[in-house]
Amino acid sequence: MSVRLRIAPSPTGLLHVGNARSAVFNWLYARHHGGTFIVRVDDTDTVRSEEKYVAQMMEAMRWLGLEWDEGIGVGGPHGTYRQSDRFDRYREVANRLIEEGTAYRCFCTPDELDSRRQAAQAAGRPPGYDGTCRTLTAAEADGRVAAGESFSVRLAIPRPGVTEFFDLVRDDMRFDHDVIDDFVILRSDATPTYHLASTVDDVDYEITHVARGEDLLSSTPRHILLTQAMGAEPVTYAHLPLLFGPDGKKLSKRHGDTSMDAYMKAGYLPEAMFNYMSLLGWSYDPEVTIYTPEQAIEKFDLADVSKNPGIFDVKKLEWMSGEYMRELATDDFTARSLAIIEAERSLSDEERRQYIALAPLIQERVKVLPEVLEMSDWLFRDEVVFDEKSWDKVMKPEAAAVIDDALVRLEGLADWTTESIEAAMRQMLDDLELNPRKGFQPLRVAATGSMISPPLFESLEVLGQSTTLERLRRARAQFE
Ligand code: GLU
Repeated sequence: MSVRLRIAPSPTGLLHVGNARSAVFNWLYARHHGGTFIVRVDDTDTVRSEEKYVAQMMEAMRWLGLEWDEGIGVGGPHGTYRQSDRFDRYREVANRLIEEGTAYRCFCTPDELDSRRQAAQAAGRPPGYDGTCRTLTAAEADGRVAAGESFSVRLAIPRPGVTEFFDLVRDDMRFDHDVIDDFVILRSDATPTYHLASTVDDVDYEITHVARGEDLLSSTPRHILLTQAMGAEPVTYAHLPLLFGPDGKKLSKRHGDTSMDAYMKAGYLPEAMFNYMSLLGWSYDPEVTIYTPEQAIEKFDLADVSKNPGIFDVKKLEWMSGEYMRELATDDFTARSLAIIEAERSLSDEERRQYIALAPLIQERVKVLPEVLEMSDWLFRDEVVFDEKSWDKVMKPEAAAVIDDALVRLEGLADWTTESIEAAMRQMLDDLELNPRKGFQPLRVAATGSMISPPLFESLEVLGQSTTLERLRRARAQFE
């Protein structure tokens, strides 16, 4: 049988990096086995779920390159793939389990449950449901329903009992039913709990493997018991290690952004993001950190996922994004970066040509795409904006003489090429007995406004002789 995996985010916020990592692993496993990858949404919480989050999550998944075969937006044989459209189906299952005696109606009120929980805690007993309504006969329960009492539905956990399963990541798992209370599957307002909706979906959609965060490990014996009550075969589980920050603490905002959206907007390359996410709890090869999705698909196995936490380190991600940036074909980089620039300002043909000439040098120096804005801004301005810090650092009184000297030499250059500019400027260093920092930085700040810019001589060539001279003169005038 072919494998079927799913990701089931709750659209109550943006796609979290933890969910995105789960998505990557599910996708890799499905692709490795030539199976089916499904995206559904767990929107039983109709108050907190929002359509805009569904859209943003799907956009983030597509951005990562995770196309799916069934589910939201692409359809399939199982309806809308939204839990909010399936409440009748969950109620039907709950009713069937009541009829079959594997679930029962519970009439205990919230106040009663509360005081019994407190008493249990005070006496050192487990605080879970004590089974009060489990012994009601069907006739008794029917009578109370007819009398207008509201009720929830609970799963009758087999007692005594043990649920055991083999987890692809965590190996043999064993849960004594003593630690599992008769949990609610349908609330008194007839809405399903996560346990019921998720399990019914997994059964109905014929899911074969569930790979999800380890935080859900304690839910798994409940889902297995529910699956068995439904008369279905439990899936194979893989509980993925949680994500931690570089300081060894659970991943949170203080480690950096935790939504995929933030990285998308910050201009990380999706290829780098995908590669980085795949390393959070899995390793392609101890010696190889950069690989294509195809290579990862070839090698991926849930059984190779580590039990140890995945460390999410924005610094490593930045490094990886820079590596990918340099690997892009120049045309590709140029097209992607021009799109970002032209979203901010319109360029003349000449300006576009200038940018294209410098793009390969800019490509060497950026980690995320929006950095190209700052790297190229100087090129498109009628008047350079001098960065205050750069000016104060570089434009000491003696820099005026350097600019004067450079002006004479550059004015006299017959051909305006990187090589001729460089030769003239190096000659100037020799003649004035200056080091490159003292000699070149004033020219850089004069021409581009900042100490951080693409290499100087290439930049001056692209700027053109007359603009360069004009900029040097204007900078020189600021000294008076
Ligand atoms: N909606 C759940 C979540 O986002 C899905 C958990 C599961 O995969 O079963 O955590």
